[in-house]
Amino acid sequence: MNRDDTGSAGGGCRTCRHQPECPSAGAPDHDAARVVAAHPAQGWSLLCNGVIVFDDLGELLPDGRVLAPPSVVLAA
Ligand SMILES: [Zn+2]
Repeated sequence: MNRDDTGSAGGGCRTCRHQPECPSAGAPDHDAARVVAAHPAQGWSLLCNGVIVFDDLGELLPDGRVLAPPSVVLAA
């Protein structure tokens, strides 16, 4: 599966209008933010705080960091 690189720098001012306000991308509970764009056919969802959650539970943070799915154990 190929994932295209959307390096768009448009906007930048992403204001949360939810009540209560969604946790920020850096918050420990960032995946509790509302889904603002779901793409089940492509296997990912965009959260209000800019975090992208993949259907294997991997996450891509707005600053480019990738969080591996919890079930994946990386052997040292
Ligand atoms: Zn929000």
